Amino acid sequence: MSLIDHALKSNKQYAKDYDPRLGAHPRPVVAVVTCMDPRLSDLEGILGLKHADMDVLRNGGPAVTDEVLAALVVSTRVLGSKEIMLLNHTGCGFTTFTDEELNAKLSKLTGDGSPVPMRFISYKDPVDHTKEQIKKVRSHPWIAKEVPVRGFIFDVDSGRLREVTIDE
Ligand SMILES: [Zn+2]
Repeated sequence: MSLIDHALKSNKQYAKDYDPRLGAHPRPVVAVVTCMDPRLSDLEGILGLKHADMDVLRNGGPAVTDEVLAALVVSTRVLGSKEIMLLNHTGCGFTTFTDEELNAKLSKLTGDGSPVPMRFISYKDPVDHTKEQIKKVRSHPWIAKEVPVRGFIFDVDSGRLREVTIDE
């Protein structure tokens, strides 16, 4: 059985015990931007926050794309999130290649270069990456100045968070 088939089977059981109150309008308190990496999946544990309090935006890296900025605007302006947390991590797969290298590799592997250049938004240094993210989010005119935008690196070996500031 594929894992997705297994998930569908499990969902039948989940729905039996589901509390319909969980379907009420969401009231996020914090927006968290983080990597798709499974080691970042236990956000309740890592951050000690409840699922219901977090709008979680995930992609590879993570990358603060226009789509992520749009979601942050909605989270803070429409849904009510009060803070933005940019959560990077050590050992990210997106530091192991450059966009150019991966484009070349996949073109060769598949024999089809038509998607090139695909934007993977790879990076080298999580500290620099975090600083750039903070600047990018902070400079968006629709993200209110009162909303704190803070960046962190999760150490996958120790489980600890380290805050990154743009002046360090
Ligand atoms: Zn990652």
